[in-house]
Amino acid sequence: MNLRLWLDQVLDGHQKWTEEAGPYEVHDSLRVADTDVETALHELADRLRDNYPYFHPRYAGQMLKPPHPAAVAGYVATMLVNPNNHSLDGGPATARMEKEVMGQLAAMFGLDSYLGHLTTSGTIANLEALYVARQYHPDRGVAFSADSHYTHARMCGVLGMTGYPIPTDNAGRMDLAALEKQLLSGTVGTVVVTAGTTGLGAIDPVHEVLEMCTRFGVRVHVDAAYGGFFTLLAGLDGPEGLDPRPWSAISRCDSIVIDPHKHGLQPYGCGAVLFRDPATAQFFTHDSPYTYYTSKELHLGEISLECSRSGASAAALWLTLKLFPPTPDGLGQVLAAGRRAALNWSRHIEESEHLALYQPPDLDIVTYFPRLTPSRLSHIDAASARILHEGMAAAGNPVFVSLLRATAAGFTARHSNVIADISEARILRSVLMKPESENYVGILHSRIEELATAAS
Ligand SMILES: *Cc1c(COP(=O)(O)O)cnc(C)c1O
Repeated sequence: MNLRLWLDQVLDGHQKWTEEAGPYEVHDSLRVADTDVETALHELADRLRDNYPYFHPRYAGQMLKPPHPAAVAGYVATMLVNPNNHSLDGGPATARMEKEVMGQLAAMFGLDSYLGHLTTSGTIANLEALYVARQYHPDRGVAFSADSHYTHARMCGVLGMTGYPIPTDNAGRMDLAALEKQLLSGTVGTVVVTAGTTGLGAIDPVHEVLEMCTRFGVRVHVDAAYGGFFTLLAGLDGPEGLDPRPWSAISRCDSIVIDPHKHGLQPYGCGAVLFRDPATAQFFTHDSPYTYYTSKELHLGEISLECSRSGASAAALWLTLKLFPPTPDGLGQVLAAGRRAALNWSRHIEESEHLALYQPPDLDIVTYFPRLTPSRLSHIDAASARILHEGMAAAGNPVFVSLLRATAAGFTARHSNVIADISEARILRSVLMKPESENYVGILHSRIEELATAAS
């Protein structure tokens, strides 16, 4: 694992390629003195210190971690060329890599035919899926669970569609009875199911929603931005194995979004959308006067809402999937470690006198709160916030978690003994998306317990 060495290889390779084009002069207007760059880089390094240590297992807060160094090397190698995956003219090599990785992602979900491409983010990928949903059902709206990503409601607004939030059950999953009631009203054309909610990591019952939607003639979109790669653990033996039913139903849904910049070891700027029906392409055809398409082969810009997109993102993902193929034994091992970490920490929390589990984790996100007597929401809220802040501020040995707002109704549905003296309470949440968490949860648990003891 020597990024310095890999970057040397990258720079050598790039130099060799540029030299083949023959000599040329860099324009004077672009010249900078090495010492000026050095000074500016020092200032940048200094400014960058104002960050949390996302790379370290002591950071168990939000969905943040650096890309794999190999992805960085692949990204830099390609960024030096700066291809644009909008069209084959902008980057033939990386457009083909994008088609290859889309084939791998489609195969991972079990799709045989599909239309798909990378996007700049999960939000844009979901926007695209909802745009297609609107084209299929122009006069009907979109249902999504109350725990789904907040951008679904926002994007319904952008698209001029009505969004229908569906309540969740006491495991944070879409409530089927409530969904059925909404579907009976005839107002819904598409249901968004979330395979791994952003807050709790809950997996909506994709198979049951799909069965119901098929009965009603309603489309199903799967937002697997966070959880998508966990399909690699579906049906595996061992503690990290997941119930395969929601995952195997995904291949029969209409569209899927997955974020390689979340669990695919990529830097930001890498989401993906897949449509099961290749005929979806009809909603994207355009005839721009300035994008000179030189071949009959598919140009990705023809099936995408976005125009310019980083070819480097596609190359970085392509390189990463060479090293970590999307199989249970490849990338699956990275996710399995985080899943085991979540299960182990949950066990510690359940046995703790000072902490309680909010709900068992479906994926690698643990939600918990300080055990207090009497168990008032207002006290839980204040103590959770205090633990977060004191953990971050602990000089020399900080620990980083995050907060999640739980409604009083959601809380009491899971823990009937709490006194709901306020309408919602902040609880503690830890995303264990780094495999290093597996060997660190013991330390995390004792640190948080220490902080909780001081709170009670
Ligand atoms: C992160 C996330 C999104 C948004 O994706 P971005 O890449 O941050 O735009 C959408 N849905 C879910 C479930 C997510 O976790």
